[in-house]
Amino acid sequence: MGEHTQELHSFADLAQQFVTSKAEIFARTAGATARDFIHTNFVHEAHRFAVQAHIADIKPNHQPFALTHANLVDVSDPAHPTALPDRTIVISPEGRIQLLGPSAEIDPGIPDGFKVLNAQGRYILAGLINAHVHTFADGRPSTLSSVTSFGSLTHAQIRQLLDSPAGQAVAERISRINIETMLASGVTTVRTLGDLTYDDVKLAQRVHRGRAAGPRMLVAGPMIAIPGGHGTPYTSVECATPEDVKAAVTTHLDAGCTAIKLAATGGVTDAKKIGNAGTPQLTVEQIEAACETAHERGVLVAAHCQSTQGMLNALRAGVDTIEHGATMNDEAIALFRHNPKSLHGYSAVDPTLMPALTLDRLPQSVTGISDIVKANSEAVTRGMIDAIHQAHENNILLGVGTDSAMPLVTQYSTWHELDYRVRFAGETIGQVLNEATAGNAHMLGLDKETGTLEVGKSADFIVLDSNPLDRLSALDTPAMVVSAGTPIFRPAALVRRFDDIDADLNSII
Ligand SMILES: [Zn+2]
Repeated sequence: MGEHTQELHSFADLAQQFVTSKAEIFARTAGATARDFIHTNFVHEAHRFAVQAHIADIKPNHQPFALTHANLVDVSDPAHPTALPDRTIVISPEGRIQLLGPSAEIDPGIPDGFKVLNAQGRYILAGLINAHVHTFADGRPSTLSSVTSFGSLTHAQIRQLLDSPAGQAVAERISRINIETMLASGVTTVRTLGDLTYDDVKLAQRVHRGRAAGPRMLVAGPMIAIPGGHGTPYTSVECATPEDVKAAVTTHLDAGCTAIKLAATGGVTDAKKIGNAGTPQLTVEQIEAACETAHERGVLVAAHCQSTQGMLNALRAGVDTIEHGATMNDEAIALFRHNPKSLHGYSAVDPTLMPALTLDRLPQSVTGISDIVKANSEAVTRGMIDAIHQAHENNILLGVGTDSAMPLVTQYSTWHELDYRVRFAGETIGQVLNEATAGNAHMLGLDKETGTLEVGKSADFIVLDSNPLDRLSALDTPAMVVSAGTPIFRPAALVRRFDDIDADLNSII
């Protein structure tokens, strides 16, 4: 029957199915019965999910190879991006760039036993880096709204479900499919900034140990917020005091988090009034406690900020990356450029136009949002575009993220963010490609490892059928993705696309 063949693509879908079954009745009863039932049910569901997952396991494969006669897209100077013709790149068995240069010079030296692929007419670009993703959902709008309407289960019951071993197995499976989609779309490094549990952490460890192919992952686990604050109760842990924050950061780092995410302000969907999207939440003292604890262990702190005041609080406390961003004042500009409490001595802004810009520009008949959400989306979009202009004017480090998993932000549409920044924030293709590769690597402290194509660095790159410097849509369906030396052929076959969302995203002009 349909119920048994249905593919389950998100935790919310699963829970939806769960609450419409007799499980709902069980879940209302207290204690062990409900818990055991949930457990059994989820083990079953998780198994089914595993069997039906549409993406095949991609096993890391380090057979050395070379791509010859390709055009090499060089965006190291964003003002003069160029495609260098007839280049060869050679990938070592360790997944690193062993040789790189004009084919005439390199080809005679390709070692015996290396597989050689002729990439004539194709374009090679460093793998994209998405500095702001979530892995708990696939971007279909229904997914997020159903998270908040789990039938009659209480928050505590849903939390219990998510924290159960079986619930975590499902969450991990969902994260894995979403991250594989991200990889297949050409993104070879991500930073996750808020998930349901530590499923992103576990996934990153699998990838790191070579048990799964995936992008390089910096992972934040759940966000840290004030009680009832942004992201609570599912994607944030609640902290009332600076001591609580310190303890939560320590727990996260001990669990293997390699990034920390704070909710310094409220978000668009939290706001009950127009103009309230960026109301400050965590205090400067709380944010400071997070920064001190994380920086002591060399970990960068990211803060969700959607107002000038919230951004100032975060910068004064030493936050390293401001997520989303808002219009900067002089103090903010000065702190971005020189921030004594930050890990590297400066802070960066990491705008994510997609979630707000789509709500702002698409008709309400499509998005179904209220007038309040619409007005706040417009204000937040404007603030981010101001921040992008100000970052360029004041030489502030500028990152790129999409906020994937949010409504309409699929795991495969990173290139749309770049395209929106060209069309709506006045950047050039050279600038956005530099920001999504070398710039993000620098912002995340990964510039020795990835972000540019240089001998010795990790072999993270994408192969395209046409020149992205002419049209960014060349990035939509890479011909091949290489992540830490593992080639993924025909990556498009691994991406489950949502045609209705693609049509909406393409309709914004
Ligand atoms: Zn986010």
